[in-house]
Amino acid sequence: MKDQTIAIHAGYTKDAHGTMAVPIYQSTAYEFRDAEHAANLFALKELGNIYTRLMNPTTDVFEKRFAALEGGIAGVGTASGMSAIFYAIANVAETGDNIIVAKQVYGGTTTLTGHTIKRFGIQARYFDVKNPSELEGLIDDKTKLILFESITNPSIDVPDFKAIFDIADKHGVISCVDNTVATPILCKPLALGCDIVVHSASKYTTGQGLAIGGVIVEREDLVSKIKGNARYAHFNEPDASYHGLVYSDIPLPLFTLRVRLSLLRDLGAAPSPFNSWLYIQGLETLALRMRQHSSSALAIAEFLENHPKVKKVNYPGLPNDPNYAMAQRYLRGGESGLLSFEVEDAETAKQIANGLNIFKLVVNIGDSKSIVTHPASTTHQQLSEQELIDAGIPGGLIRLSVGLEDAGDLIADLKQALGR
Ligand code: PLP
Repeated sequence: MKDQTIAIHAGYTKDAHGTMAVPIYQSTAYEFRDAEHAANLFALKELGNIYTRLMNPTTDVFEKRFAALEGGIAGVGTASGMSAIFYAIANVAETGDNIIVAKQVYGGTTTLTGHTIKRFGIQARYFDVKNPSELEGLIDDKTKLILFESITNPSIDVPDFKAIFDIADKHGVISCVDNTVATPILCKPLALGCDIVVHSASKYTTGQGLAIGGVIVEREDLVSKIKGNARYAHFNEPDASYHGLVYSDIPLPLFTLRVRLSLLRDLGAAPSPFNSWLYIQGLETLALRMRQHSSSALAIAEFLENHPKVKKVNYPGLPNDPNYAMAQRYLRGGESGLLSFEVEDAETAKQIANGLNIFKLVVNIGDSKSIVTHPASTTHQQLSEQELIDAGIPGGLIRLSVGLEDAGDLIADLKQALGR
């Protein structure tokens, strides 16, 4: 089935009332048939609803639909993109372990990996996403995850996925792609050889800036990489917190199941049913929207490329862009709505941001409403000078999230702001 059909039907047929639209199951808990049923659900002898921190029927549709769009076997929803990333890390790494992260990632991912998880004894090592061979020198027997973004935010690089996955596979390390900017419409990391995909559902999924959320999707047969792999002993040994359950022994998708049974159970960053319902509404039009975001962003990138005040434009749809070849290889149907461009200095960048009318000065992306951000003073403000350089964020960089307004109107807005 094609994405547009999956996005409208996967994970739901009808409920007991024949309800056409997916209902919002706004409930904290679920009544058991009897005590034996309750015990069976807790023991995983039967699958079913227990408590909304662990699962919810509306969230279940979202998880199944998103997993189907990514071409994965199962998904688990989270309360935010950051909790999805944190759970993906916490599901594999513990004190003494390390993970390898691209230097070019969202600022929150840099602070999570560089500071917060360090306090839990997990070290982050960084590689230049444009130079995957650096990974070879960073992997050791304590490496648990390789994490990068499919289209990097805000440097707008498109990595060589295959080169990264080949190295991850050679060492038996789980690879994880944050596919937020590309979305499963433009990029399918699991089909390219990735193990786990994470998302901020707060962006293109709702598409209108309506709700914070996240999702983790796992590929089919991830068990074959984990089973008997000494790196992932906790998947292969009895889990004392779940009656000695050995995750790699059960016939269920093990990565997302462990997130649910262990991390959602104990840390609890679960999505609200209403937010899951909003994501479901958003997914129905995702493919249509991504085409429009991409074509408008390309038109704007072409305009900016020819403007005398613009030193550089980063958009992988431009044939002159250094990422063009990778975008042609790994993306399909467009390059998404995110672009960045560089002007003289931070002061000029701020003046341009202040001069825009349709583009709103907001720290978000993936909205129907166009957004301008000055990353160095906002989303990436907590990064050190070196981290800013590594992430490809000079002071004069402006990020645009191109919305669904008329592209001509957006270009006119940029023209007047740049002209000042
Ligand atoms: N990943 C990327 C690429 C992002 O751009 C963001 C937020 O901007 C996140 C993750 C974090 O997502 P959330 O804001 O839903 O926690």
